[in-house]
Amino acid sequence: MKTPKVVILGAGYGGLVTSRQLEKTLRSGEAEVTLINKHDYHYISTQLHKTGAGTAADEKITLHIPDLLQANKVQFKKGTIENVDFNSKRVLLESGEKVDYDYLLICLGFEVDTFGIPGVEENAFKIRSFRTTKAIYNHILRQFAAYKEDRDPSRLTFAVAGAGFTGIEMVGELLEAIPKLCKTYDIPVNETRIVNIEASQTVLPGFDNEAIEFTTNYVKKHGVELMTGTKILECSPTTITLDNGEELPARTLIWSGGVRGNTLLEKLALPITKGRIPVDQHLRVMGMEDVFCIGDAAMFMKNDDTALPPTAQVAIQQAEVCGPNIISSLRGEPLKVFEYHHKGTVASIGNKAAVGKVFGLKISGLFAALMKQVIEARYLFVLGGPKLIVKQFFKFGKPQSKIAISNQK
Ligand SMILES: Cc1cc2nc3c(=O)[nH]c(=O)nc-3n(C[C@H](O)[C@H](O)[C@H](O)COP(=O)(O)OP(=O)(O)OC[C@H]3O[C@@H](n4cnc5c(N)ncnc54)[C@H](O)[C@@H]3O)c2cc1C
Repeated sequence: MKTPKVVILGAGYGGLVTSRQLEKTLRSGEAEVTLINKHDYHYISTQLHKTGAGTAADEKITLHIPDLLQANKVQFKKGTIENVDFNSKRVLLESGEKVDYDYLLICLGFEVDTFGIPGVEENAFKIRSFRTTKAIYNHILRQFAAYKEDRDPSRLTFAVAGAGFTGIEMVGELLEAIPKLCKTYDIPVNETRIVNIEASQTVLPGFDNEAIEFTTNYVKKHGVELMTGTKILECSPTTITLDNGEELPARTLIWSGGVRGNTLLEKLALPITKGRIPVDQHLRVMGMEDVFCIGDAAMFMKNDDTALPPTAQVAIQQAEVCGPNIISSLRGEPLKVFEYHHKGTVASIGNKAAVGKVFGLKISGLFAALMKQVIEARYLFVLGGPKLIVKQFFKFGKPQSKIAISNQK
């Protein structure tokens, strides 16, 4: 009998944790598993804000995918997925290569949603991938270098759109990075501005009042100009237009206004709701027995009205059920129903503070910052056991360059 082929699209949280599950449980020769990803590195997306601000070495944020896999159980293929032909059960890659599957898992992650606001797509920087966040840091360096020459204050005005989870984490990292860059470039810190613009009335919508109050006070105390209840109407390379009539001169707008499913999903001949693929209780695409979808790409309804949020926590828990469900499908056994258990949420505000709730307990400050590190370490543990935690901990890597390569925008 032909060995069934399992193909996983995307080596993010969902794809890698599912691969681990398959490695652990598949019997020798039971299936051929292929994991396909655009790059041969996995980026820890929950830490991308650090790459954006240059506060973490690249080696700490990226992991070489083949090193994380057992090559005799899961094959890695570097390639960009262009489409899927569900009739002939074939994945089409940008290179022209075609990969056949019997069971497919789609976990292609998120895309930044700019809500069609004029100028944002072209001019704002996005926290989407390792490359896009690297571009933020290089741009910040160029602004420092150019400011030395023209003293244009818009160069040192760093605006972050959105004071939700990702926006606040980005602001926190800028608070760590900017004073250090000021030292390098010999520029007084009071010549720089960090502006955080949020359409809702408070920071961290959805968090409890204590967390909101702690975060508001913390960022304000450290000099962040917080503009809540303010919408961005438009953005050009040098100006941000706000709904309060203000034209903010700023050459850096870091967009963290929201996410949606990968736009590639819209090309696939599948039903899509709000940019994501609706899945059933077993994590299969509605109406399909051989196609699974998890993580940010999937729309899993928690109840009649609400979908699970696009978080790493959801993607990991789904992967832990999806792996066994793929195996059960191969073996013709009954599939498990996915149930989500929320363990808490912790948003960092730089290295020394964080806010959130873990197992129902409200935490803030330095203790919360330490908890955030424990959560990150747990993910490394899921991927590669204690060995990976130790390896990442002792990876110092090259410090981020603080010198701009070119001073052109
Ligand atoms: C700054 C930031 C902080 C965050 N912090 C938290 C947090 O603290 N806690 C939390 O739970 N969540 C957090 N999140 C959300 C979390 O990162 C996502 O929910 C999670 O990454 C989703 O996992 P995924 O497997 O669905 O997709 P991803 O991890 O995004 O993986 C998708 C993979 O698919 C690949 N890919 C995409 N398109 C193609 C293509 N066409 N061809 C080939 N490969 C492709 C990508 O390169 C990527 O490797 C944060 C997100 C950001 C941006």
